[in-house]
Amino acid sequence: MEFVSHYECTLCHEQYPKSHLDLTCPKCGEKGILDICYDYIALKKSFTKKSLKENSDPTMWRYLPLMSVVTRDLSDTLKVGGTPLYRSKGLRKKLGLVDLYLKDEGLNPTASLKDRASAVAVIKAMEIGAPTIACSSTGNAASSLAGNAARLGLKSVIFVPKRAPKGKLAQLLIYGATVISVDGDYRETFELSKAAISHYGWYNRNAAINPHLVEGKKTVAFEIAEQMGFDVPDWVVVSVGDGCTIASVYKGFYDLYSIGFIDKIPRLLGVQAKGCSPLYKAYITGKPFEITEEKTLADSISVGVPRNPIKALKGVKDSRGAFVTVSDEAILHAMGVLGREEGIFGEPAGVAALAGLMVALGEEIIKTSDKVCVIITGNGLKDVTNALVAAGDPITCPPDLSRLKILLEEKGRR
Ligand SMILES: *Cc1c(COP(=O)(O)O)cnc(C)c1O
Ligand SMILES: [Zn+2]
Repeated sequence: MEFVSHYECTLCHEQYPKSHLDLTCPKCGEKGILDICYDYIALKKSFTKKSLKENSDPTMWRYLPLMSVVTRDLSDTLKVGGTPLYRSKGLRKKLGLVDLYLKDEGLNPTASLKDRASAVAVIKAMEIGAPTIACSSTGNAASSLAGNAARLGLKSVIFVPKRAPKGKLAQLLIYGATVISVDGDYRETFELSKAAISHYGWYNRNAAINPHLVEGKKTVAFEIAEQMGFDVPDWVVVSVGDGCTIASVYKGFYDLYSIGFIDKIPRLLGVQAKGCSPLYKAYITGKPFEITEEKTLADSISVGVPRNPIKALKGVKDSRGAFVTVSDEAILHAMGVLGREEGIFGEPAGVAALAGLMVALGEEIIKTSDKVCVIITGNGLKDVTNALVAAGDPITCPPDLSRLKILLEEKGRR
């Protein structure tokens, strides 16, 4: 919090001092999502590439000066961040790309990028003394909040739509959250959580509304830049639901650019599912988004009413980026290819970005000479039902070697 200068409303641009406690703009209400602004000049003096290099903390807290938490001792939290960035071999060749990197966010403690936001959310809740923290989620924000809250001894109340995959539901229950499975879609789930949060006075982890969460998620951009020696890619590819993640990636690179760590902001490719693409349509038409049905198997990005449209669209536009959509078939295909070629197992929304890269290469939005980084946002074990659809069936064999030989011969797997 030391270097936070003020808050600014993304809608009316009113500024508020850093002592401001409301999560949104009092004038604009829920749509007045705040942006947290920093004193980059002061930051530059004490936060340097050298100080970063000397910092032995591998977690996201290594970027603390660029974040909005007050707490200094963060050693009790789950270890979030420090996920691997792989230089692709097989996939790079297959796609004909000169340079491709894969950031595996599925290796966070609760197996998705959402941990970066939840780690901040639980700290912010502790800072104001809130004993209970709540959110509605398509699944990953929920499971990550439940895990991060459990670690610090906070209570969590979670609202998920009925469709949430079993893996995510199991995580929630194991982490001891109070889980409310709403018989409705994500929009209805969100509305119920909002009403309950205001009724009970719980701390609100709903990502778009709470500006501190973007400040946590943006650390993924810091890591990508640092892991690449601050020679950032031409394009970073991100799957989009509410739009918080892609907005955070933009903010992260913007911060680094502002303090002189990088000499350009990568272009951002936003990827939505064909069956639910309100932000894609808004970007293409230049009009406000329209409420959309939620018809995709990529549950984490099946968001009919995106909660962070302004920040998300601005991030893509200001980075001179682009938006594409991908079919569910393309998502399942990408899941298989990523597993086979790279040994990375992503959930559908986690690999949608890779499917989007394939579309963007086909449409020549991204060139094969471009240096690209794809963020794999969540782990495939969260949703094994769809993974099995993507992977097909095993070879079924009786306990008999001669039969096995025939079967392997037939499948060409010998
Ligand atoms: C939440 C999530 C996204 C999208 O993030 P938004 O902030 O909703 O745009 C993408 N992939 C996974 C795995 C997620 O959990
Ligand atoms: Zn406002």
